[in-house]
Amino acid sequence: MIETDIIIIGAGPVGLFTVFEAGLLKLKCHLIDSLAQPGGQCSEIYPKKPIYDIPGFPSVLAGDLIDNLMEQAAPFKPGFTLGEAATEIDKLEDGTFIVTTVKGTKHHAPIVMIAGGLGVFEPRKPPISNIEDYEDKGVEYIIKDPEFYKGKRCVIAGGGDSALDWSIYLTERNIASEVVLVHRNSSFRGHLDSVQKVIDLAGEGRIKLITEAEVD
Ligand SMILES: Cc1cc2nc3c(=O)[nH]c(=O)nc-3n(C[C@H](O)[C@H](O)[C@H](O)COP(=O)(O)OP(=O)(O)OC[C@H]3O[C@@H](n4cnc5c(N)ncnc54)[C@H](O)[C@@H]3O)c2cc1C
Repeated sequence: MIETDIIIIGAGPVGLFTVFEAGLLKLKCHLIDSLAQPGGQCSEIYPKKPIYDIPGFPSVLAGDLIDNLMEQAAPFKPGFTLGEAATEIDKLEDGTFIVTTVKGTKHHAPIVMIAGGLGVFEPRKPPISNIEDYEDKGVEYIIKDPEFYKGKRCVIAGGGDSALDWSIYLTERNIASEVVLVHRNSSFRGHLDSVQKVIDLAGEGRIKLITEAEVD
């Protein structure tokens, strides 16, 4: 049984910063995450993407932000159970909790904090019948290292921040030889600033924008 003051389910940025805040109150934390490493979406989905909306950092790579959060939490010596999803919470008669993982590891504390973000990650795949045949052979759901696309022709499908950010990044840094952004609507869901940048880059002929169309 792992004993601690606060069990945190989810070692994403929110869970990691909780360690620091709890540490200031002299409370010790133990984090549980189904991923093999801390950092949540930042480490697993976009470690090399710059983030522009962290106060005090005009730009920081998601992976570096997680390194900083780990450094900030380190003095408070958090414990980690990684690579195990938390599947059960039991409340005991004295009001404390036991959290059990899929592998049967048990954690006991008076407080449980859920910092599970969007939950355990699964890519949302487009409904293309034979898409699995092309996975890891040109079809990717996550850009982990943009340098992998150096000199390549890239088609990005989507209309949210991720699609917009990567289209801009691969174009502005001259990484991809060509960027085509395909989106099923004529308007985008991302930040207005990113939408404007994509429209400007399309106007300069640096991004090929195809809207009201789907990849199939
Ligand atoms: C491609 C992309 C780009 C983004 N860009 C930006 C940006 O530029 N700026 C910005 O502010 N935000 C951005 N975001 C959003 C940002 O990443 C999230 O808001 C942030 O990660 C949320 O942090 P979190 O700690 O709440 O959750 P998450 O990062 O989702 O972490 C939650 C963790 O909980 C774990 N977990 C969930 N359920 C369980 C369970 N039952 N047992 C064990 N572990 C569990 C998950 O494995 C995960 O590691 C982006 C997101 C994506 C996908």
